[in-house]
Amino acid sequence: SQKVKDAVLIPRYVRVNAHKTNVEKAILAFIKEGYTYEDPCTDLSSLPKKTVRRDRHLNDLLVLPTNSDLHDHPMYLSGELILQDKASCFPAHVCNPPRGAHIIDACAAPGNKTSHLSALVGNTGRIFAFDLDMRRLDLLKRLTTKAGCKNITPIHGSFLEVDPHDPAYAEVEYLLLDPSCSGSGIISRLDHLVDDGNLAEFQIAVIKHAMKFPKAKKVVYSTCSIHPQENEHVVTTILSSTSEFVLGPRSETIPTWERRGLIKECNDDADIADCVVRTSPTEDYTNGFFVACFMRKDETAPKED
Ligand code: SAM
Repeated sequence: SQKVKDAVLIPRYVRVNAHKTNVEKAILAFIKEGYTYEDPCTDLSSLPKKTVRRDRHLNDLLVLPTNSDLHDHPMYLSGELILQDKASCFPAHVCNPPRGAHIIDACAAPGNKTSHLSALVGNTGRIFAFDLDMRRLDLLKRLTTKAGCKNITPIHGSFLEVDPHDPAYAEVEYLLLDPSCSGSGIISRLDHLVDDGNLAEFQIAVIKHAMKFPKAKKVVYSTCSIHPQENEHVVTTILSSTSEFVLGPRSETIPTWERRGLIKECNDDADIADCVVRTSPTEDYTNGFFVACFMRKDETAPKED
């Protein structure tokens, strides 16, 4: 369809891995190879060949022309660059853990968001990375080792079976939840969608479980789905079932990103819609994605001096 054709023109996004290099060095390396550095821009539909630019919203992301093949590039092979779609870089930034934080990545494999969290905390603290699928968890181990991560504990098993009162997780304040979803936002899958009515039930169970961890103060939920049933509806269901957590304000959820939740899918509540993030596979030059950030109530109150 025309929609799919339009959507496939997304640029090649490259996350610069702070464990191995920085954005300035990566840009210089591209320039040495004959690339031209250009200013960030809004029209990403036909970027000139061999150009590199910073992303307008995320400070660790570079934007190269569509179809740039970096799979044999030395900076990719060394783990300095991670090939990761822009929207899937949102959750770790929304989580925004401080150095030393204890973090759970509940549905972690293959580990792109895990290694992003690890980079954001500079290899400090601890990241407990769960996944139900052993083969995918093995891939997470390989990819996070390649990326230079040293603060990750991979754990095979269902996050739903983890005891929130286990002393091992007593200091966990940040939880990133990227559970299985229909994948309906993924451009390469736009023409063969999964339709599983039980997904929302699972997604809600994962969020509710995360909120049971005694010190949890930030619970970030994401999907690569465009369906309101897995996105806004999940958020409104959670909000109506908890008195301890509220949605974090827009300032916590990529405030400069203009596309927010669908108001009519948030029970016509524009405030809820404004706190969550959507990306559109046909309009935003990214895959379709959704992010919401729940915060423990006392964490959203202004701090006294
Ligand atoms: N966060 C990953 C990343 O950025 O690389 C992608 C995660 S993928 C969308 C969802 C993952 O959830 C799959 O790897 C799947 O095996 C895992 N999963 C499904 N049910 C789970 C459960 N009950 N506990 C832990 N992981 C689960």
